Amino acid sequence: MWQETIDLPSASPGSYTRLTTWRYGKEGGQKVYIQAALHADEWPGLLMLHHLHAQLEQATIRGEIVIVPYANPIGMRQFLGGYQLGRFDFDYSGNFNRGYLNLGEAALPYLDRDALAAQDTAAQTQTIRSAFKQALDAWQPQLESEHLRKTLQLLSYDADVVIDVHCDAAACAHAFTNERHQETGEALAQSLNLDVLLLEDDPGVIAFDEASASPWWRLERALDLKLPYACFSTTLELRGERDVSETLAQQDAEGVMRFLQHIGIVDGPTLADNNTKVGTPLAGVGRILAPHSGLLDFKVAAGARVCQGDVVANLIDLDDPNATPTPLTATTDGIVYALGRNHLVRPGHVVVQIAGQKAISAGTLAY
Ligand SMILES: [Zn+2]
Repeated sequence: MWQETIDLPSASPGSYTRLTTWRYGKEGGQKVYIQAALHADEWPGLLMLHHLHAQLEQATIRGEIVIVPYANPIGMRQFLGGYQLGRFDFDYSGNFNRGYLNLGEAALPYLDRDALAAQDTAAQTQTIRSAFKQALDAWQPQLESEHLRKTLQLLSYDADVVIDVHCDAAACAHAFTNERHQETGEALAQSLNLDVLLLEDDPGVIAFDEASASPWWRLERALDLKLPYACFSTTLELRGERDVSETLAQQDAEGVMRFLQHIGIVDGPTLADNNTKVGTPLAGVGRILAPHSGLLDFKVAAGARVCQGDVVANLIDLDDPNATPTPLTATTDGIVYALGRNHLVRPGHVVVQIAGQKAISAGTLAY
């Protein structure tokens, strides 16, 4: 491995932000890009990458692997009253996992449809990645957080595989990918023993995974030309924010290694075909919202299987000690994959999320 650092333009006098990368293998074959803690207060992935590093140092690598061991040094320093708040930028730009350059539009001026139509798939892939690079080079951000977003996209725009490691508040391990890449997503799920794989069509926002994978089909639509979907991208949620442990990190790093072996960038066995599909549509997610303010008493744990109508939490009205707690019930059959962070909730707060088979919503991300 060799380590590199990238300095972001300074946002305030005397303050500097540095991004670190670890590189393995060499350019020329497949490229895999992995980052953790884009939401800087989501820490399980940070430890997993240390264990993955140790395993990669022992492995034979057939391409290039780029790891950004902490993807959001800006968010890492955002402490308020002793609490780290790493999901939203303290400056203007909002959620750190939104607001990436939409290369499906931005690359269009750098592409010639007729020239692309005459090329084979490998040449199209090369041409389109060159256009991505030109579009990113032309992007002139102002905010420090936008420079961070641009830098992360410059490190990953030409990757065949992008793994963006997050966690939820309290959750079982799960992943998001686009429905067009379900087969590879199922291999990832099998590698990491995930029971939940959420399949997106158009999640309605440009999160990092969407920014990496969707430009290929966005360009296909815009140019009316069949193109390869050359980047598999996933958001891998390594359980809840308190699930930081050597045991889990080692186990998850081994899971990522199994996936890297399966896709052939690391020497090792491919996965046995187990004929098990765990993917469910993002549109099948049942989100249970708090109907009023109060204190939550969860009745299920992350990973539990529930049926529609099962009580997942009781909500206690703090203004009326004589009131019966409000039962909150599952809106679909499926697996409870995430519970809300706070026991004290306001109306509209997401309490529980369930991965179900049946489409019941527009399939967009929560917030
Ligand atoms: Zn996150």
